[in-house]
Amino acid sequence: MRPDLLNPLFAEVETLKGVGPQLARALHRLDLERVVDLLFHLPTGSVERVRAPAASPVLLGRLVVLEVTPFEARLSQGRGPTRIFGSDADGNVITLAFFNHGGWAKKQLPLGEPRIVSGKLEAYGDQWQMVHPDVVEPGKAEPPLKESVYPLTEGLTSKRLRELAAQALERAPELTEWVEPSLLGQRGWLPWRAAVASAHAEPGDTAVRARLAYDEIFANQLALQLLRQVSRRKKGVPLQGDGRIVARLRLPYELTGAQRRVAEEIRGDMAQAAPMLRLLQGDVGSGKTLVALLAMLNAVEAGAQAALLAPTEILARQHHATLLKQLDPIGVRVAILTGREKGRARDSVLMGLADGSIDILVGTHAIFQEKVAYRNLGLAVIDEQHRFGVSQRLLLSAKAARPPHLLVMTATPIPRTLTLTQYGEMDVSRIDEMPPGRTPVETRVISDERLGDVIDGLARHVAAGGQAYWVCPLVEESETSDAAAAEERAAVLRERFPGQVGLVHGRMKGPDKDAVMAAFAVGELAVLVATTVIEVGVDVPNSTLMVVEGAERFGLAQLHQLRGRVGRGTGKSTCLLIRGQTLSETGRARLALMRETSDGFRIAEEDLKLRGPGEILGTRQSGEAAFRLATPELVQELAGAATDDARLLLDRDGGLAGPRGEAARLCLYLFERDQAVDLLRSG
Ligand code: ADP
Ligand code: MG
Repeated sequence: MRPDLLNPLFAEVETLKGVGPQLARALHRLDLERVVDLLFHLPTGSVERVRAPAASPVLLGRLVVLEVTPFEARLSQGRGPTRIFGSDADGNVITLAFFNHGGWAKKQLPLGEPRIVSGKLEAYGDQWQMVHPDVVEPGKAEPPLKESVYPLTEGLTSKRLRELAAQALERAPELTEWVEPSLLGQRGWLPWRAAVASAHAEPGDTAVRARLAYDEIFANQLALQLLRQVSRRKKGVPLQGDGRIVARLRLPYELTGAQRRVAEEIRGDMAQAAPMLRLLQGDVGSGKTLVALLAMLNAVEAGAQAALLAPTEILARQHHATLLKQLDPIGVRVAILTGREKGRARDSVLMGLADGSIDILVGTHAIFQEKVAYRNLGLAVIDEQHRFGVSQRLLLSAKAARPPHLLVMTATPIPRTLTLTQYGEMDVSRIDEMPPGRTPVETRVISDERLGDVIDGLARHVAAGGQAYWVCPLVEESETSDAAAAEERAAVLRERFPGQVGLVHGRMKGPDKDAVMAAFAVGELAVLVATTVIEVGVDVPNSTLMVVEGAERFGLAQLHQLRGRVGRGTGKSTCLLIRGQTLSETGRARLALMRETSDGFRIAEEDLKLRGPGEILGTRQSGEAAFRLATPELVQELAGAATDDARLLLDRDGGLAGPRGEAARLCLYLFERDQAVDLLRSG
């Protein structure tokens, strides 16, 4: 339970003065739901005003605060503004113009009485002008010379956000420091509450930003390490296969050195009683599935069951088919469970799992639901984890009485710092070697002026019996408009290739999508038009051409993933990146990099520099570990320190019971890692 001290921060924004339903709606659009969200909604910059005795050319275009005395008022005629003429200390005439609010303006600016006005100083003919200035009486509070500006949405102004941030700050308690006082000094950081206040008042202060970002990363690290600590302390099931099943496996090829190495690492882990927590990184096509298979057979040899979780149904079916082909002949029993298995089919799988007659289960998230009871689940493999985040890992390992060994596989090449923040509780294995005999995919960047040529090329490819993917650009953050663009492209291609073009997009129902993908997989369709929903991991070796429209709008990691769809067979593959005609410098550089390298890790590092980590990790889908204070640069800079600090703290005080531990709990709650604190109680 969150300590009472923090409750004021977790109250709804509606509890603040001046927040009615309309303003609340605007705030919610920015995900500002509670007081704490306002506290962490930091300004991006500030505006500065100049206090001047009189207008002068150097002030033109700036925000100026000056004293004027009105001497004439001309009320609005029809569509024109109300104009009030005043003179400043030097006798310059300043025109104060008001559209709509003429009556109000006249009252605010009585003739012959000095007033302080503030606004943008403009030239109007040979006169000075301010449109809609703020007005105060002399001696009253003048507008501040520096004010923070915030990220906004319709119906919200920076002024409003400043007021709300001030209210939020009033509610913010002083918190015991979770950062060691000596470190605080060493790093030049303010105490927490002062840091938050300063972040709102001085948007340019990088030390303050760093401190707040650190807190967020620290909370994340601490949560992951607690998860590790609690899971590892549990008794899992040591599994040591004797190799009798693996020996009967008929593989058409030799393992690569990298596959052999990581398979050994996994075997080593599984032999321990402490449950394995291992992340397997390997580029698209590096052969992770086989490593997973060996791990699962290791479990089966040792008398346990294994489960393989795929992110989508189509992938689950693909895995199931592959496994059946290899395992059925050697007597290993494989079953599938997705949302589609219903009624008797489902019951029989559930029964087989419970009585142990099923050795390996493949499926979608359905396989780890509470209703699914395994007789003896020894290993859980999670393929392409995009949508399986920390909290689910937590359910699987930290909450289970005897947690299974856990292997998470990802094709997303993640830079080291991000591995820390996303998978800080896991050990990492990397497959850094491709199976032999792959021809690298030839990548070309082509202007969209040459779309006609591309379609002609596609025609030759299809005529020669080839298949191709055609990925349509992201139009906006909206599936509807993305789908519309894809439909349009499909219509054009269908005219040229009647009966041979399939379309999949995010607005389609699962079974419809699967039917199209399946038709493409068996070669009934030659061209698959898609938005980025081309499911990660789909394997159609005959498809050797990938066209990506609007390539500059994709993240590099995303392009890399898309390109990984081709080059899976022995034939030569091509990736055509079609770009718009206006391309920024970075846009150009990014596409050039794609042409230059197929090294996923290099691409990921570059992508991090050019874009936020959300793109790389697909956190937008999972919504997890998306930092709000820590920018990618700050993550790079601070993740190491935050990790070390968290580790040091847990080494000294694993139960977070001492004073610094108590403070760290506050930090966890502040960043809503409540689950991690719960672990302390359960573990
Ligand atoms: P990913 O790591 O992307 O999941 P897969 O496991 O799907 O990659 O493997 C990609 C392809 O490479 C598959 O067709 C697989 O059969 C093949 N493959 C895997 N390991 C080897 C190997 N050692 N030698 C040759 N081909 C391999
Ligand atoms: Mg795969």
